[in-house]
Amino acid sequence: MNQSVPFEDVDPLALDPALGEALSREGAEWAVERVREAGVVALSAEAQAHGRRAERNEPRLLTHDRFGERIDQVELDPSWYWLLDGAVARGIHALPWSDPQPGAHVARAALELMWTQANAGVMCPISMTYSAVPALRVDPAIAAEWEPRLAAGALSGMAMTEKQGGSDVRANITRAEPVGDGWFELHGHKWFCSYPPCTIFLVLAQAPAGLSCFVVERGAGMEFQRLKDKLGTRSLPSSEVEFHGAAARLLGEEGRGVATIIEMVTHTRLDCVIGSAASMRRGVSEAIWHARHRSAFGALLVDQPAMVNVLADLALESEAATATALRLARAYDSGDTAFRRFATAIAKYWICKRATPHAAEALECLGGNGYVEESPMPRLLRDAPLNGIWEGSGNVIALDVLRALAREPDGLSAFRAECELARGGNAVLDDHLDALPVELSPWNARRAVEELALAFQASLLVRYAPSYVSDAFCHARLGGGGRVFGTLPSGVDGTAIVTRALRGDS
Ligand SMILES: Cc1cc2nc3c(=O)[nH]c(=O)nc-3n(C[C@H](O)[C@H](O)[C@H](O)COP(=O)(O)OP(=O)(O)OC[C@H]3O[C@@H](n4cnc5c(N)ncnc54)[C@H](O)[C@@H]3O)c2cc1C
Repeated sequence: MNQSVPFEDVDPLALDPALGEALSREGAEWAVERVREAGVVALSAEAQAHGRRAERNEPRLLTHDRFGERIDQVELDPSWYWLLDGAVARGIHALPWSDPQPGAHVARAALELMWTQANAGVMCPISMTYSAVPALRVDPAIAAEWEPRLAAGALSGMAMTEKQGGSDVRANITRAEPVGDGWFELHGHKWFCSYPPCTIFLVLAQAPAGLSCFVVERGAGMEFQRLKDKLGTRSLPSSEVEFHGAAARLLGEEGRGVATIIEMVTHTRLDCVIGSAASMRRGVSEAIWHARHRSAFGALLVDQPAMVNVLADLALESEAATATALRLARAYDSGDTAFRRFATAIAKYWICKRATPHAAEALECLGGNGYVEESPMPRLLRDAPLNGIWEGSGNVIALDVLRALAREPDGLSAFRAECELARGGNAVLDDHLDALPVELSPWNARRAVEELALAFQASLLVRYAPSYVSDAFCHARLGGGGRVFGTLPSGVDGTAIVTRALRGDS
C-alpha cells in the first residue's frame, strides 16, 4: 500500500516542456524526434535495468593472459556495451563533427541529457571522444586519419593527470623522447586515465621543447596497472597507466601542449555542464514522481505545501541548468568563441557545484526508499560530484575565470552583453546586473563566479520561461532566499512550477 511505481517507460521529452522549448529556441527543432526517441529508450525499463547491471557488475582489469603475456584488457558487462553502443548509435560521441548542420551541438546536448539518465558512466568515453576532435583538428593530417574512425565508433580517451599534479599539468614529468618524423616515445606514469579500452588517447608529456600534446594508439608500451575503486560511476573503468616507450605522434606545436589541448578541455567542460543538468533533471523527475504517488498524514505529498516548496525549488534549479546547457551548446554551433570560453567556465563551476546538493535533496524526497540501492537515487548522488572535479575542480575553474578576465576581456563583455538582454524583465535581476563584480581576486573568485552564473541563468529564465518560474528564481537566488532547497519565499506559485517540471498527471 502507498508505494510508488518506477519512473520508467515514460517519454521524458513530453514531460519536460523546458527542454522542448530550449531545443527549438537554440536551433535544434529538427532534432526533436531524435531526442524523444533517445529519451524514451534511456528511460525504458530495459535501459534502466542495463544501467543498474553495468553498475553492479563492475569492470575488471586483466593485465596478463594465462601464459604471462601482457594483454591489458578490461572485462566489462554486456550491459555496459548495450549502453555504450546506444550512445554511439545516436551520434552523441560525434554528431556535430559527422553531421555539422546548424544546431548540431544543441541536438547533441539534448541527446546527452537523455542518455546520461540511462547511465552516467558510459558518457565519459562518449564525451572524451566528442571533445578530442577539436584538438585533433590542430593537425589536419591527424584529423583526416582519426575523425572518420572516431565517427564510426572508435573511442578517444585522455591522459593528463599525474600523481604530483592534476590541475597543474605543467608539473607533468612523463617524458617524450623524439624518434624522428614527428614521432616520440613516451616514458612515465598517469594517475588517472579513464576507459582503457579507448583506441587512442590524447596524452600530455614533456618533450625537449616543453609540455606537448600527443596522440597515442593503445598497444605496445602502454601498461594499465590497476582500476580505481571509485565513489561513483562504478560502471566506468578509470585506470592508472604506465608508458614504456609507447609510440606517440606529436599533435600541435612542440612545447604548446596546453594550448593544443585547450579546445578539448573546453568541450569536456561543456559536457560537465550537460551531465550535471541531466543529473538534476533525473533527480527532480524522480522526486515529483514519488510525491505524486505517495501519501503521508492523509494527503499526497505533492499536495502538501512544505513538499511543494522543495519540489519547486529543485525544479527551478533543474530548469535553469537545462536552459544554460542548451544556450551554451548553441555558442558552440555559432562559433562565438569569446562568449563560449568564458560562459562555459562560469556554468561549469556553478552547475556542477549545484548537482550534489540537488541530488541529495531529491533523494530525501523519496524518504527511506531513496536511500536503498534498488532506487536510482544513491547512484545519482554518488555520481554527482564527479563533474565538479573533472576537467577543473571548483577553485581551478574560478581561478581560470580570473585569468580569462585579465587575458581575454572580450569574454566578459560578451557574457555581460548576453545577460543584459534580459534587462527590464525583472527588477531583482536588474539590481543584480548593476551589482555584478568587476574585479576578482583569488579570495573572492568563487563568490564572483557564482554571481555571474546566477545572472546568466536568471537572464535566460527572464527571457524565456513563464514569469512564475523566472520571478521565483530571481527572488530565491538573487533576492536573499534560503540556504537549502525548499526555502522559496511566500508568493511563489509552487504548484505551477511543479506542474511544468513534470508535465501531465503522470
Ligand atoms: C572518475 C575520474 C575520472 C578521471 N579520468 C581522468 C582521465 O581520463 N584523464 C585524466 O587525465 N584525468 C582524469 N581524472 C583526473 C581529474 O581530471 C583530476 O583529478 C582533476 O583534474 C584534479 O586534479 P588532482 O586530482 O590532481 O587534484 P589537485 O590538482 O591536487 O587539486 C586538489 C584541490 O586543490 C584545488 N586547487 C588546485 N589548484 C589550486 C589553486 N591554485 N588554488 C586553490 N585551490 C587549488 C582544486 O580545486 C582541488 O579542490 C579523473 C578523475 C576522476 C575522479
